[in-house]
Amino acid sequence: ESDKIIENLKKHINNANISDKVKVSLTGCFGFCAKGPIVKIFPDNVFYVHVSPDDAGEIINEHIIKGNIIERLLFEEPTIRKKVTKHDEMSFYKKQMRIALRNCGLINPEDINEYIAADGYMALGKILTSMSQDEVIDIVKKSGLRGRGGAGFPTGKKWESTKIAVSNQKYVICNADEGDPGAFMDRSVLEGDPHSILEAMAINGYAIGSNKGYIYIRAEYPLAIHRLQIAINQAREVGVLGKNIFGTGFNFDIELKYGAGAFVCGEATALIHSIEGNRGEPRMKTISSSKKGLWQKPTCVNNVETYANIPAIINKGASWYSSIGTEKSKGTKVFALGGKINNIGLVEVPMGTTLREIVYEIGGGIPNGKEFKAVQTGGPSGGCIPPKFLDTPIDFDSLNAIGSMMGSGGMLVLDETDCMVNIAKFFLEFTVEESCGKCTPCRIGNKRLHEILTKLTEGKGTKQDLADLKELAQTIKDTSLCGLGKTAPNPVLSTMKYFMNEYEEHVNDKK
Ligand code: SF4
Repeated sequence: ESDKIIENLKKHINNANISDKVKVSLTGCFGFCAKGPIVKIFPDNVFYVHVSPDDAGEIINEHIIKGNIIERLLFEEPTIRKKVTKHDEMSFYKKQMRIALRNCGLINPEDINEYIAADGYMALGKILTSMSQDEVIDIVKKSGLRGRGGAGFPTGKKWESTKIAVSNQKYVICNADEGDPGAFMDRSVLEGDPHSILEAMAINGYAIGSNKGYIYIRAEYPLAIHRLQIAINQAREVGVLGKNIFGTGFNFDIELKYGAGAFVCGEATALIHSIEGNRGEPRMKTISSSKKGLWQKPTCVNNVETYANIPAIINKGASWYSSIGTEKSKGTKVFALGGKINNIGLVEVPMGTTLREIVYEIGGGIPNGKEFKAVQTGGPSGGCIPPKFLDTPIDFDSLNAIGSMMGSGGMLVLDETDCMVNIAKFFLEFTVEESCGKCTPCRIGNKRLHEILTKLTEGKGTKQDLADLKELAQTIKDTSLCGLGKTAPNPVLSTMKYFMNEYEEHVNDKK
């Protein structure tokens, strides 16, 4: 529908003979999915929501030519029950801080000139002309940036250990194999601001002494792949990728590799296996990939959102970035906010923002006046957080402490009508399907967990099943080989911890 809107806008501009004065620019996602398609008018800064292709004529003739704001296309801010014209007047955006998403919805992702106009490739120019490798690593370390793919490992430390590894060849990999159900943070960055990832990878390449990068992206993201390929071609053309970048003698190029749809390939060792042309299975981590990774060479693997922060950190400095967030989790985090929530969309908030602020202020609360029951964070590896933790400031450690995890940023809101046993079963179904089968606890154990959950949801479960469920979930967690298996029981364990009454209601031998 957005393509049709663009086509119609252009048609009406041509009909009105104003194509020398008015330009239609395609952008990436604005994040406010619940209100799309969105058209933003510059320089007026007017934000139109739920636009249809038939509105194009009115936008051009009424707004652009006559200067009249079209009331019916404005967003009505529920907190004040008034139509608002600007996006920063909306509670959905007010508490957000967009660093990783800074260019999404602002620039045309298919035009390198728009990225350059938004300070793009400035950070790369800066480090290549005035900073040593150690100085770059030092900024990233001091910024406090931690990996946004889920594990939260300090990014600067990872870069440093790859830099000090001795080898004639090193690699940089961007993990764009975003596979959590309901997660679309990385996709949005890749579709809306692909050059920021290329720039960050080149910075990473310089810092560790690598001339070759791979973006491992899921093949189910055709638009992201298309835009990344356009961005790579444009970057090579203007000389910010390839040989002798900025005339400094630094060479760095990037190649796309496509994932074939296996969730486990988001795990770093499986991803490396897959790029090497092998079956995408995790392997024991006896030596870290920063020492022996792709083709046994030192390799630095970072996820998309982690990279999206890098140019901003280089441009604005480590202390600017580390002033945002909590003591141990710096900066912002992007969440895909979905489920039973009014404002479904992509949100980026400073670490330390509470769940209540996200659910009730940014997210606009639960539809139809229903009660909030829980929020599931971290996708299939995460857990369900009950209402008593709504005031928890979100960061890596606080979410772990209450039995969930940040994960890559999926946030699914559940209301009073959701059955928590069913929710646990839903996520288990996903992990059973996605288990690579290499180790027994995950391959067999998760199937058994799923069978018990099915029995319970069909009303055939017993008290003994509840005991077995708990014991088996813990065993799988303790003994699986990779992160997928180790975290697969989390939805079961966290729902049993906080919603045991619902499990008991499903048991048929209550006495
Ligand atoms: Fe494969 Fe699961 Fe074992 Fe990971 S834990 S290696 S996904 S079987």
